[in-house]
Amino acid sequence: MKKYILSTLILVFAVLVGLVPLVNLKSIQSYYEVPTEAVVFPPLRGSQDRLAKSIQFETISQHPRMLDTATFDAFGQFLRASYPGVFDMLEVDTFSTHTYLLHWPGTEAATKNYLFIAHQDVVPVDRKSIAEWSAGPFSGDFVTDSTAGVEGWIYGRGTLDDKSALIALMETMESLSYSGFQPKEHLYFCFGQDEEIGGKAGAAVVAAHCRAKGLRFDAILDEGGIISKGSIPGLKDTPVALIGSAEKGYLSVEVTFNLAGGHSSMPNTETAITRATAFTNALNDGLFQSEFSAPLEGFITHLAPEMPWALKSVFANRFLTEPLLLNIYQQSHTGRALTNNTAVATMISSGIKDNVVPASARVVCNTRILPGTTPEDVLERYAALAAKFGGTATPYNTISSGASPTSSTEHTDFVKIGQAVKHVFPEALVSPYLTIGGTDSKNFEGLAKNTYRFLPIVLGAEEVGGIHGTNERISVDGFNKMVDFYTVMMQLWSAGKFPE
Ligand SMILES: [Zn+2]
Repeated sequence: MKKYILSTLILVFAVLVGLVPLVNLKSIQSYYEVPTEAVVFPPLRGSQDRLAKSIQFETISQHPRMLDTATFDAFGQFLRASYPGVFDMLEVDTFSTHTYLLHWPGTEAATKNYLFIAHQDVVPVDRKSIAEWSAGPFSGDFVTDSTAGVEGWIYGRGTLDDKSALIALMETMESLSYSGFQPKEHLYFCFGQDEEIGGKAGAAVVAAHCRAKGLRFDAILDEGGIISKGSIPGLKDTPVALIGSAEKGYLSVEVTFNLAGGHSSMPNTETAITRATAFTNALNDGLFQSEFSAPLEGFITHLAPEMPWALKSVFANRFLTEPLLLNIYQQSHTGRALTNNTAVATMISSGIKDNVVPASARVVCNTRILPGTTPEDVLERYAALAAKFGGTATPYNTISSGASPTSSTEHTDFVKIGQAVKHVFPEALVSPYLTIGGTDSKNFEGLAKNTYRFLPIVLGAEEVGGIHGTNERISVDGFNKMVDFYTVMMQLWSAGKFPE
């Protein structure tokens, strides 16, 4: 806080005496405003019913050994029956048990491959929350709502994460196939079965196949960003398309404290439990300094010029205001997630009996890793902090990954995503972003020149809360716009043609 006040004072003083030139940051949004030749179609008859129907399949991922084969079988049959054009025209391969790779071959002149990723599985619904849902979580019910500027909502698990993307991609392919569209470049589609538990039996198997075959992609588009409304300070009224150009890494660490226990009638003041809790509290100070990683730098370059004067001048004078800016980011949990290697205790255990002081305590912590930091760096910091309290740190399980590489935002394939955004959502700003959670695209690391993470839908805070939460829902209009976005995107990336 001291730093914050000091830098604010310095800035105000410097501006008043004219020491700081209030650089007028230049907007770069016009890069994406290039008109495209792409066309969109009216929704196919019954498209919203097919989305609703897809929600009714309880394709839940909970544990690798708990795959509900019958439900995934039925969902696969539903896709085949609903999209005859797609299954007729594209090459479809099945991997693992229920993961599909579709290939829409380009022309003979094709030199590029593009991959779209979506997943069939969803997270479970907390049984205790069911009463709070406005419609059953696997009902796919349509609820009219004329008040919110929308026709109505389709409710259920997967309406945002991620069946909407899967069904919108299918609707897009189906209607492009009816129109006689021919992509020039190759288009691929991967629909995994276990994204919510890491993708090891789904997307990772497809990725291994691509590696073995030497199939490489120019660009990948997966979920992992949205068009956010109201979440960005200074841009409360403007929708902002946040396109993940990198994804954070993941590491869990087990920290153990051993200290002689004994009878609880004459305890020492220090025990394994007091050490474990002191360590856990110390985690709040962070393992690392907060920082702006490469994707966040892109975010600032894209959005700072669009902000009101005061904020713009703070960004324009970063050599002076960096601590102030970082401090602003520490005020919200998303801001902290974007600028930190987060560290939080997620499991704690100790003790065997109420009158025995335990001789050991164990804390499991989870960290999401920023680009530029390695899992080894993180483990080292945990070990150092644990040592201060007499503990030792070891990796908790084998699920660890560094942050993904940061993809180019100058590459024409990124610019085309921005163009598609402006085509369908003209009022939206375009920006790179850091994806905080994990996506299936991480399984394709090393197989693509660039990987982007973006779900083309405008969401306010309430809708975002539905993802993995209560009342997950999508507006019919929002879903139709997703189809429009993918329709434009496939035309732009594949450089294809319609029949004359
Ligand atoms: Zn997802």
